[in-house]
Amino acid sequence: MSQQVDNIKASYPLFLDEDYKDMLAKKRDGFEEKHPQEKIDEVFQWTTTQEYQELNFQREALTINPAKACQPLGAVLCALGFEKTMPYVHGSQGCVAYFRSYFNRHFREPVSCVSDSMTEDAAVFGGQQNMKDGLQNCKATYKPDMIAVSTTCMAEVIGDDLNAFINNSKKEGFIPDEYPVPFAHTPSFVGSHVTGWDNMFEGIARYFTLKSMDDKVVGSNGKLNIVPGFETYLGNFRVIKRMLSEMGVGYSLLSDPEEVLDTPADGQFRMYAGGTTQEEMKDAPNALSTVLLQPWQLEKTKKLVEGTWKHEVPKLNIPMGLDWTDEFLMKVSEISGQPIPASLTKERGRLVDMMTDSHTWLHGKRFALWGDPDFVMGMVKFLLELGCEPVHILCNNGSKRWKKAVDAILEASPYGKNATVYVGKDLWHLRSLVFTDKPDFMIGNSYGKFIQRDTLHKGKEFEVPLIRIGFPIFDRHHLHRQTTMGYEGAMQILTTLVNSILERLDEETRGMQATDYNHDLVR
Ligand code: SF4
Repeated sequence: MSQQVDNIKASYPLFLDEDYKDMLAKKRDGFEEKHPQEKIDEVFQWTTTQEYQELNFQREALTINPAKACQPLGAVLCALGFEKTMPYVHGSQGCVAYFRSYFNRHFREPVSCVSDSMTEDAAVFGGQQNMKDGLQNCKATYKPDMIAVSTTCMAEVIGDDLNAFINNSKKEGFIPDEYPVPFAHTPSFVGSHVTGWDNMFEGIARYFTLKSMDDKVVGSNGKLNIVPGFETYLGNFRVIKRMLSEMGVGYSLLSDPEEVLDTPADGQFRMYAGGTTQEEMKDAPNALSTVLLQPWQLEKTKKLVEGTWKHEVPKLNIPMGLDWTDEFLMKVSEISGQPIPASLTKERGRLVDMMTDSHTWLHGKRFALWGDPDFVMGMVKFLLELGCEPVHILCNNGSKRWKKAVDAILEASPYGKNATVYVGKDLWHLRSLVFTDKPDFMIGNSYGKFIQRDTLHKGKEFEVPLIRIGFPIFDRHHLHRQTTMGYEGAMQILTTLVNSILERLDEETRGMQATDYNHDLVR
């Protein structure tokens, strides 16, 4: 065997060694009943046709690579943003292992989250006892200051009542009466991870404010509340804080997991780090106003903020790109009375300069993209500002109302004429689209790499390279530390896009004495 103890090879390139090739071929021929290669090739080619696309879009009962995750995943991220808070999922252990590993792989950090491990008996008789024991054990073992409870499908299917279970746990002394245990029902068979974030936030905000509104006065603390929604770019938490600090605006970032998802390797494990305090949450109704950074993903939060806190939620879009960052800053200035400082004006000017420098390369480039509603909308807006053409825009968890809003943005630009917006569709639909109407690039999460591989398999001229912006990103390191919001985020996105274009151009013009007449040093 070519694998030697003093020369350990990874599966790539190990499986290219002759003995492994031989072994894998024997396994295939002897045990796997593989279809003839010609048939596989024929079916592959068929899946790239218009005929197949039409069948693919008639699909109703099956989702393939859905481009979204389930509600409790979002609830866990929201809970992680609060100081000394343990996310607790009432339901099956496997789900929580999935949430933790999903975040581990994206953030490359340990992510604390517990479950009460409901098994068959709990599925039949209800999970109340699991909840009582689970809350008691969680508090005793991990010593959080708050436990934020969400649910998996299993608990929702059998109809477990979180309010009753938590109250009973308190009544029977499993946890103290005054101990904070906010909760949210997060059924995974409706909505997505962004709905779960919204639900959990509403649950926490409700717990700390609903019954204590009498002494609250809007504007009395002089601060601005910022609610991020399901946000996985750590740079976005930082850039929002920086811009507000430069403006001299006092703020409360409500759910801030920036620290706990980016702890240093200095020999000390931090189960908890940073985060929004309970005091900040209690004080939130006293703020001047509440800005929702991802408004399409925060409907329940908006209702609470308007209905209970009596805040007027400003009509804003996600602060991505030039226009919508301008709008964000102008609105913050209007609410707070603080002027936009010269430092941010200069930063804006630098972004405009970069857009001017790169527009010749970006102009007219065609993109397919997917992701969560606010991110996709912000990305579409910025692509149009850059003179790029978004063509296939897919958002599995977008609503019809959201689609209408994106259509209106596209109609307002000459670069939006060739775009189609798809809601409720998955990445297998997108695969068809990029075969039948090829864009220059795809923008999305790591799952797009399989589409890139498939397009390359058809032929180099069909390949659609993936630009990784979104969530999750498992197969590249540290991209979650980047920024997509504000002028800084726009600069980073622009840099990524234009250099992807130039990298591709270099790749296409490297052919010695064939295409290298355009293998230029200066682009
Ligand atoms: S969809 Fe349901 S079963 Fe699957 S991980 Fe989410 S909660 Fe668990």
